[in-house]
Amino acid sequence: MKKRKLDMILERLEGFAAPDPRLEQYATPAPIASELLYSALLRGDLEGTVCDLGCGTGILAIGAALLGARSVGVELDCAALKIAKENARSLGVDVEFVRGDVASICLRNVTTVIMNPPFGAQKGSLGDRAFLRKAMEICEVIYSIHNAGSEGFIRRFVEPCKVEEVQKIAFPLKRSFKFHSKEVKIIEVELYRIFCR
Ligand code: SAH
Repeated sequence: MKKRKLDMILERLEGFAAPDPRLEQYATPAPIASELLYSALLRGDLEGTVCDLGCGTGILAIGAALLGARSVGVELDCAALKIAKENARSLGVDVEFVRGDVASICLRNVTTVIMNPPFGAQKGSLGDRAFLRKAMEICEVIYSIHNAGSEGFIRRFVEPCKVEEVQKIAFPLKRSFKFHSKEVKIIEVELYRIFCR
């Protein structure tokens, strides 16, 4: 499947109906999801089992399945999971969705983790550390989206895993919460490829 086609399919997926600020529920915009997924596809990282930690409404997990991966999505929030399942069903793709907390879930035989974890900006949010910790524990390669300016922290935090690539991308953040003043705010984020084995 061409990247443009993937983009168009992912663009039509349902997002969060009532995003929860404490869980930092920001859906990844379709062009960024396809950038991440294509980057993984071209490096052969979608060949085994792919796990989306904090899968939300499923855009990354579903995209990975569309590109041929065996795909698993883990999410704490039942309402988001319900939308993710419906999104997968509407496209006829097979994704295993699991309800669980990233901090404590047991997962095996995962080759690649793909994720857009909470950045830890909201009070009560688990933040990206727990997500990175779990990813390092279970997989060989991580594709993860973080706040701009995180590189120093990420490099130190993931040791002995190695940051192999950092790509800077503009992330259009749609107005989802009352405390957002603009309809769309562009923030800069970084897409990491982290090699663990
Ligand atoms: N992967 C989706 C959603 C990203 S937003 C996408 O790319 O569009 C981050 C997601 O992590 C939210 O859906 C949130 O509910 C989930 N989340 C936050 N804390 C979690 C936890 N402890 N365990 C599992 N999921 C969690």
